[in-house]
Amino acid sequence: TRYRGGKMWEGVYEQRVGELGEMTNLGKGFRERLGESFSLRTAEVVERQGSADTTRKYLLRLWDGRYVECVLIPANVGWDGAVSDRRTLCVSSQVGCAYDCKFCASGLAGFTRNLGAGEIVEQVMAVEGESGERVSNIVFMGMGEPLANLKNVMKAIRILNAPWGVGIGARHMTVSTSGLAPQIEKMAAEPIPFRLAISLHGATDAVRERIMPVNRKYPLERLFQAIEVWRSKRKQKITLEYILIEGVNDGMDQAEMLGKRARSAGAKVNLIPYNTVEGLEWRRPVEAVQERFLETVKAAGAPATLRREKGGDIDAACGQLRLRRENLK
Ligand code: SAH
Repeated sequence: TRYRGGKMWEGVYEQRVGELGEMTNLGKGFRERLGESFSLRTAEVVERQGSADTTRKYLLRLWDGRYVECVLIPANVGWDGAVSDRRTLCVSSQVGCAYDCKFCASGLAGFTRNLGAGEIVEQVMAVEGESGERVSNIVFMGMGEPLANLKNVMKAIRILNAPWGVGIGARHMTVSTSGLAPQIEKMAAEPIPFRLAISLHGATDAVRERIMPVNRKYPLERLFQAIEVWRSKRKQKITLEYILIEGVNDGMDQAEMLGKRARSAGAKVNLIPYNTVEGLEWRRPVEAVQERFLETVKAAGAPATLRREKGGDIDAACGQLRLRRENLK
């Protein structure tokens, strides 16, 4: 039994088998009996957008009929704009989201439930199966707030990282948060050296509060305190994500403040032009403003990149495929 158990792990993760009946490393009779009684995967890809050389987006139906999305970002793009041979999968951690960021599609339909660790890992297996490509990097930037589902997200990271599991290097995984300060501090004690990204989107409380209600609970001072705790335990640089929204957070005062904050936190800045969301009035600033914002952040002393978007045409802003689907019901 122990021997068979080991073979089953090998089948599930190393060979990425989708059905127990396909585990060729087990005896035929045993394999068939298993396949009849149990199923390995519960999520199913029900829709796909995009093509091999662009950002591809997948809609998954979960066992209870709910939907989540994940986005496969091909080699030449990279979520932070760097060119490499990475294949990054952006995974969801919850169905919907409770944090109500004003610009985001995921929170529009409210929060439904947390994903289990298995449902998070399964997104990787399902997309690999569909695309025929191995995923090399994971970012927790799909639907949901990963730090509000910390236990399951950590369990998923352990499985994704484990040599007996999916085998993705810790430094190839990034957890992104809207800024839950106590959970950042708690997570700092985790032994696996995955990366941290903070969705900042405003460099002063006044601006950030307007678009991210979570800022009222954890204002910038509290958030940066938590970042200091994280930094004291980890050697890596964190990333401050900053989406550029026209007339809201794209002023040069914000750019300068952002640069200063990033510099003192030893962080790098990733600027992302806003992706329009159906039903929301926000827009991205024109390119000249994006470039000037970038230069201003850099001039304030922080390393910064500007993502020249690839996925805007297929609603790569997470949550949009699902919204359309749920609205049809
Ligand atoms: N809740 C986590 C992870 C999910 S959001 C977080 O807030 O970090 C992942 C990233 O996508 C965040 O930086 C979020 O602000 C950004 N995002 C959400 N809607 C967007 C849009 N319409 N255009 C561009 N980025 C968006």
